[in-house]
Order: sequence, then structure tokens, then C-alpha cells
Amino acid sequence: MNSIAQTDFLVIGAGVAGLRAALELAPHGLVLVVTKEAVRESNTHYAQGGIAVAMEGSEDVALHLEDTIVAGDGLVAHAAAEALVNEGPLRVAELIEGGANFDREGDTLLRTREAAHSRPRILHANGDATGAEIGRALAELARKNANIRFAEWTTVTNLVIADGYVAGADLLDRDGKLERVATRAVLIAAGGAGQVYSHTTNPAVATGDGVALAARAGAELADMEFYQFHPTALALPGVPAFLLSEALRGEGAYLRNDRGERFMERYDKRLELAPRDVVARAVFREGMGAAPGETRPVYLDMRHVAGIDLHKRFPGISGFLAQHGLDLHRNQIPIRPAAHYMMGGIRIDLDGRTNVRGLYAAGEAACTGLHGANRLASNSLLEGLVFGARAGRAILADGLPQTNAGQREPAKQSAMPIEPIETILGAILRELHQRMDHCAGLVREDAGLREGLAAQARCSVKLNEPAQVSAPSRRLIEAQSLCLVAGAILRSALARTESRGAHFRADYPQRDDAHFRKHSVYAPQQDAIRFEAW
Ligand SMILES: Cc1cc2nc3c(=O)[nH]c(=O)nc-3n(C[C@H](O)[C@H](O)[C@H](O)COP(=O)(O)OP(=O)(O)OC[C@H]3O[C@@H](n4cnc5c(N)ncnc54)[C@H](O)[C@@H]3O)c2cc1C
Repeated sequence: MNSIAQTDFLVIGAGVAGLRAALELAPHGLVLVVTKEAVRESNTHYAQGGIAVAMEGSEDVALHLEDTIVAGDGLVAHAAAEALVNEGPLRVAELIEGGANFDREGDTLLRTREAAHSRPRILHANGDATGAEIGRALAELARKNANIRFAEWTTVTNLVIADGYVAGADLLDRDGKLERVATRAVLIAAGGAGQVYSHTTNPAVATGDGVALAARAGAELADMEFYQFHPTALALPGVPAFLLSEALRGEGAYLRNDRGERFMERYDKRLELAPRDVVARAVFREGMGAAPGETRPVYLDMRHVAGIDLHKRFPGISGFLAQHGLDLHRNQIPIRPAAHYMMGGIRIDLDGRTNVRGLYAAGEAACTGLHGANRLASNSLLEGLVFGARAGRAILADGLPQTNAGQREPAKQSAMPIEPIETILGAILRELHQRMDHCAGLVREDAGLREGLAAQARCSVKLNEPAQVSAPSRRLIEAQSLCLVAGAILRSALARTESRGAHFRADYPQRDDAHFRKHSVYAPQQDAIRFEAW
């Protein structure tokens, strides 16, 4: 039996939300931050374009609120959006004070504009490496704090519930050693689930584990039908769906089809700077070939942009493109939409509380309703700062007791060698990806969603076999998480018989405010969906 470790607070995830919460908690007790790989490997690290923040006073704040509400297509939870825009400037100022370096000209912070923002308010760092700089600054502050410990290359496999409270969690390290950690509170800041689709801008760690851990512990999920697809990911055969930041369109990029037409003129008067869902569906449509499954190339074009050195402004993107023989000044860049951001997640109140005592969530894994049906570009790094800090404060205010986390069952030995298990999991995930792309992608309809649900149920049954015969592994946990998340997306998408934001139903193409100006709430343990206004 392993020893029982103990910490006051357990934070799952070392992205912007988890690190910000850890810094809030650290003056009041021991914090253990767990992350599946090295600290820097998170969605946060890959964020390019920037962080949206209104630092010019109350008029600017009011406009940021309005832009967030408009992009969210009638579903933004106003109180959450108000908290974001009102508290954002202070959180960013603290971050700068704490050592984050945003790009400047002299003393003045540089600001860019992105889609659906009414004015330039996006701070950026090192051109197009904003997330890496924010993550670096927060991690450095955390590493200097004696009360914060990190468990890297460690996967949380399970939450322990005792007397109705979350009392601890089981942690699996990369050598396969399992350990139970007792704690007073758990904060899930485990990020998104882009890996549920085959084309995603997200790194390998984004498998929805946080949502699955919370769901199994009895937490409700919300707005899971709204998965944001980014319109401009690189489309080269055999190359990952590398993100081509919205900031490229902010600096004047055009989108063209294979006939050279600037097609956004036919879709939205805001052209390339229309909200993401509108642009993503337009790119998807223009990329459809004549026969089912056939595709046509679509391009991002900056060849006309003069007076700015694109290599200097976007060094990371330019460097990546150069590896593939492409140059923003000289070439059209082939693009396609890719799964990017989970608007839904673990349902929380404005302070990160879930419906399970002692369990909190923040960042992309959580859902306050802040993004409505469509996140405004560059609002999520700010969300991590604001709601990470709020969750930290709520945990402290709630003053939870330490309950007995008990001892975990000894881990079973694998009755099957690793290789066949890997093969089985690979096949299950391929089927899941294919169904999610086809049935729950940018365009959905009833029959496809039902077909997707049937396939998801088959995948869930198939996962039982490796789960019963193999010792716990990160890959198995991730496959189980992805399958649960897929089920939640499909069920929520089936229930919302309208089109809104990122959720487009070919069989219900209109927005239906009379019935659906509400958030979906999914209770996984009862497999029940309801709609609630908040
Ligand atoms: C390519 C890209 C570009 C983006 N650009 C921008 C941008 O310009 N502006 C913007 O605002 N947003 C952007 N976003 C979105 C934004 O980066 C994320 O929404 C945000 O960083 C999420 O932060 P987080 O702290 O919630 O989660 P993450 O940063 O994703 O961190 C999740 C953490 O959880 C850990 N974890 C997950 N499961 C487990 C488990 N079972 N056990 C232990 N640890 C676990 C991971 O290892 C990781 O440390 C971008 C996203 C991507 C992918």
C-alpha cells in the first residue's frame, strides 16, 4: 500500500487558471499543482494572439463587455462577463507587476485588434507568444513560493469523495506509481478537450480529463454543445493543425477560396473580422468539394499587407511556416477550421464552486456562461486570471475541513501486455474522432447526432475491456475522458434544436430565443439534460 500524502489544496493543471489560483491559495496553506507533462505543456503555453483587456477606463470596460455579449450570440451570462471585464485590468496589472513582459513601444503597451473587438485592446508578448510569456511569469512566481509544490508528469485519475466532500485524489506518475493525496479542496483547472476531434489546435494534454473527473464525482456540466472551431488552422497533409492566429486577420489578412475570391463578402459585412463561428462555417463551406468528403483548398492571404514586417510581428508563426516552405509575405497559406476552445465545461458559480462540496473549477475546464455560444477572441487567458483568482478566494472563504480520504485499493497488475492495449485504445479513439468530426463538427443534424451517440456508446463499452484487464495508465484515463466528453457534447447538441454561435443545426438553422435563450445543463450521472436561464 502506498503512503498517504497530504496537502491543504490540490490544483489540477498548471495553465493560467491553475497557476493563478495556486498563487492566491499559497499564503494560506500547502498547494500541490499537478500537471500531466512539464509545467509549460498546456493550452496556455500555445496561446499566440494575446490577452484582451480594457485598460483605458470605464468606457473601454463597457465596450469590452458589449463585444463579449455580442460575440456570445444571446447567451452570455452577464454577471460573469461583468466580473471578467471589471476585474481583468487589475489582474493584468498584477501580472505585469509580477514580471510578465508584454510588447511595448517605449513605455506604451502595444495593442492589437482581433475579430469582433470594437477597438484594439489585445496585449501581446514576443509578437505571437503571449501564452508562453504569461505561463512563464506565473510559473516563476509559483516556483519562488515555498508553499507551492509541483507534481509534473503526473495524471490525476480519480477524485475521492467522503461524507459528501471531495477529500482527495489519486495520482499516477510516469513510472506507473499510484498515490492517494488527501486535501481540503480540489480545484480543477485541467483545460479543454480539443483532442476529442481529429483536427485540433490543442496539444496532446487537452483530453477533457477535468470535465470527466468532475462528472464522475457528481458535478454538473453546462453548454457542452458549444465547441469553438478556429477558422484558420494550417492545412498541410501530415502536419499538425498549427494555429494561424486571429491577429493575422487583425493585421489585414484576407481569406480566399480556390477561385481567388475574397468570399467573406458573401457571408458577413464584418468580413474577415466577423465572429469566429461565422468565419469558421464560411471556411468550412468554401472548403467543401462537389462530392461528399471531397475538399477544396481555402487560403489565408497577407501578400497585400504593406508597411509591416510580418516576420517580426509574428515570429513564431513565420518560423513554423518557414519549416514548411511558406512565407506570409509571399505565399497564400492553406487553412481549415480546427477544434480550438471548449465554451462549455464544469458548471460553476461566479466563484468557481461546483455542485460538489470541496470541488472547484476555473479556466477552460469550467463554464460560467461567460462566453455564451461563442467566445470572443483572447478572452480566455483573461478568464483564467480572473476566475482562477476568484476560485482561490472562494476556497479560502469556504474554510473546508480535512476529511479522511481513506486508502485506495492496491492497483491491479496488467493482465494484458501494453502493446495490445495501445492498439485497442488507438482503434477506439480513431472511431470516436471520425464520428465526432462527422456528427458533432461545424454542422450538425438530428440523424447524425443520434448516429454519433450510438457510436459513442459502442466506444464506451469497448473501453471496459482494457479498463478491466489493465493497470491504470494515462492513455486509458484520457480515452475514457474523451469518450465521456464526446457523450456530453452529442447529448447537449441533440437537445438544442436551434442554431446559435458555435452550434449550427442544419435541421434547425434559426436562432430560437423563445425556447433556447438558456444554458444547457447536463447531469452525467442521471444522463439528463435541462435548460436554465442565468
Ligand atoms: C494554439 C492556441 C492558441 C490560443 N490563443 C489564445 C489567445 O491568443 N488568447 C486567448 O485568450 N486564448 C487563446 N487560446 C486559448 C487559451 O490558451 C486557453 O483557453 C487557456 O490557456 C486555458 O487555460 P487553462 O489554465 O484553463 O488550461 P490549460 O492551459 O490548458 O492547462 C491545463 C493543465 O491541466 C493539466 N491536466 C489536464 N488533465 C490533467 C490530469 N488528468 N491530471 C493532471 N493534470 C492535468 C495539463 O497538463 C495542463 O497543465 C489558445 C489556445 C490554443 C490551443
